[in-house]
Amino acid sequence: MGKLYVIGIGPGGQEYFTEKALTAIKESNIIVGYTPYIEYLGDLAKDKEIYSTGMKSEIERCEKAISLAREGNIVSIVSTGDAGLYGMAGPILERSEGVNVEVVPGVSANFAAAAYLGAPIMHDFATISLSDLLTPWEVIVKRVKAARDGDFVICFYNPRSKGRKDHLEKMINLLLEKKAPKTPVGIVKDAGRKGTKVTLTTLDSIDYEEVDMLTTVIVGNSKTFTRGELMITPRGYENK
Ligand code: SAH
Repeated sequence: MGKLYVIGIGPGGQEYFTEKALTAIKESNIIVGYTPYIEYLGDLAKDKEIYSTGMKSEIERCEKAISLAREGNIVSIVSTGDAGLYGMAGPILERSEGVNVEVVPGVSANFAAAAYLGAPIMHDFATISLSDLLTPWEVIVKRVKAARDGDFVICFYNPRSKGRKDHLEKMINLLLEKKAPKTPVGIVKDAGRKGTKVTLTTLDSIDYEEVDMLTTVIVGNSKTFTRGELMITPRGYENK
């Protein structure tokens, strides 16, 4: 019986890999993953058998990885960020009963983005994906309202794509119904990758054209403030 590692490789290059991810990849004879993610592995992928297919075939990739492990191979399937958040860990475990699976954690996009901004998360937060491919739109709306009403810091994943140009704007408008217009917002594109772009703005002045699928958007809670280029959420709610 082989083994299947489900690995979060972090937001981009190898400086964000954990030692555990490196060891698992080195130990594997086969690597499965979306082509650009395999490229992040650089030399680590050399001398390995590689299975990479297009973005739409996530489930196909999972099934391939599982069957290769069942055949006795040591397989790594790679996700960006953390594999347990909008990644491969769920789809793999749903389908792989009887296979020796180990999930290896990684630096998720929100934490990579947060580090550029300073300390915008810090307190209770919600990550919400604005992709309605796997989640009904009504559920997304309900969660955004709940996170707003609970004064959570909100990290939006999959904020805006060609097919969903106005999703983020609709959600920000929902936030503006109750949150202060000057609530700080951090927009980070390509965290941990070449050409990282960091923008600090406010809820009422987001330039939506800046936001795409390689971007994470972090909206502060009622106590979040800025100092220079930094976005800071206090550790607690006591008056500073
Ligand atoms: N498993 C991943 C998330 C996959 S969903 C993780 O834990 O990070 C894909 C979304 O993640 C993108 O649409 C974007 O919102 C965010 N994302 C992934 N990598 C990013 C990066 N390097 N910089 C900014 N956002 C990123």
